[in-house]
Amino acid sequence: MKAVILKKGREASVLRHHPWVFSGAIEKAVGEPAAGETVRVRAHDGRNLGIGGYSPDSQIRVRIWSFDGTERIDTAFFRKRLAMAVEARRSTVSRSTGNAVRLVYGESDGLPGLIVDRYGEYLVCQFLYTGVEFWKATLVEALREVCPCKGIYERSDVAVRAKEGLAETTGTLYGQTPPESIEMVENGCVYRVDVCRGHKTGFYLDQSRNRARVAELAAGRDVLNCFSYSGGFGVAALMGGARFAVNLDASRAALELAAVNFALNGYGDEHYENLCGDAFDLLRRLQEDGRRFDMVILDPPKFADSRRHLVRAARAYKDIALQGSKLLRPNGLLVNFSCSGAIEPGLFQKITADAVLDAGRSGQIIDYLSQAEDHPVALSFPESMYLKGLICRIT
Ligand code: SAH
Repeated sequence: MKAVILKKGREASVLRHHPWVFSGAIEKAVGEPAAGETVRVRAHDGRNLGIGGYSPDSQIRVRIWSFDGTERIDTAFFRKRLAMAVEARRSTVSRSTGNAVRLVYGESDGLPGLIVDRYGEYLVCQFLYTGVEFWKATLVEALREVCPCKGIYERSDVAVRAKEGLAETTGTLYGQTPPESIEMVENGCVYRVDVCRGHKTGFYLDQSRNRARVAELAAGRDVLNCFSYSGGFGVAALMGGARFAVNLDASRAALELAAVNFALNGYGDEHYENLCGDAFDLLRRLQEDGRRFDMVILDPPKFADSRRHLVRAARAYKDIALQGSKLLRPNGLLVNFSCSGAIEPGLFQKITADAVLDAGRSGQIIDYLSQAEDHPVALSFPESMYLKGLICRIT
């Protein structure tokens, strides 16, 4: 079998079961492996460390499928890994009332670069690197067996594929093409999801548990749902007894879908308002207009793609938290999120603290939030933890 040989002393992270082998750790590739091809990973002294998928154009040159030196990478292997992932959700995901769930979360499920979300009877996948691209037909076949469905749709229209030398692509991989809108249920709320054109695979499933938490705290409150996308937190808040919800987003299409979602759950426009525009401007405009809220939710897109953008991102997070805090009535709740993996929880807490202080307010953290349990964090792969949230009572 083709192989990569690591430089002397560079085997430590693989021995700790971290699935990425960076190009800088590799002394040489033996046998000229092609993109996605399976290679044996060997230490400098020849020790067999595992087996992975080769990615000639990427800084992450190998992603390891298995640390068991004897395992074979074939249909049976993928069937087993997929079945483990699906079974893990069955036994630990508490969304008993829902019909949408992340079934496979890449490296955390031992399937680097593969995302599979289930929305009702359809599966939506992302193939984020050459290894899963190479095995796509096998994976689709195995998925159909492990998780019978009406159709499997691919949403590999993501920029990270470029780092792997892969073009963006979308389309039906099996069965029926999903309809323009699928109705999903989460925490007793109903949402329309456009899995073919919506953000990510159609919905931000990672916030599922946090939407439930917001619902618990929402009773009687005026809520600002900033970066609302299709209204997820806003609907959840009204279901939890909120008085009124304002959704704010730069995307008109997202707000149109939010209007549909509010109506689906029985809320007319006496219960909510949609504001379209740039949050950095609109948060200031709301202050000038004297608007005040009892809960401000800030769930912006990823401001830091990598550590290189850390300073700029920290400034952006601080600015919105500062503006959001100013809009809160005394004892209001600031629900502040960051989905940038590069921003560590400790730093995010400091940014939030600085913002609240600069707003001339003080506060207490009453809850620490993270990504939902169907986005597990492999202990050997801390990079899979990215979503952080703080609920602060602001006085
Ligand atoms: N809270 C949502 C997910 C938010 S994703 C949920 O639970 O479903 C981030 C959203 O921010 C996207 O909908 C995107 O359109 C919006 N967005 C990005 N930049 C923005 C900006 N500068 N001002 C307002 N909205 C923005």
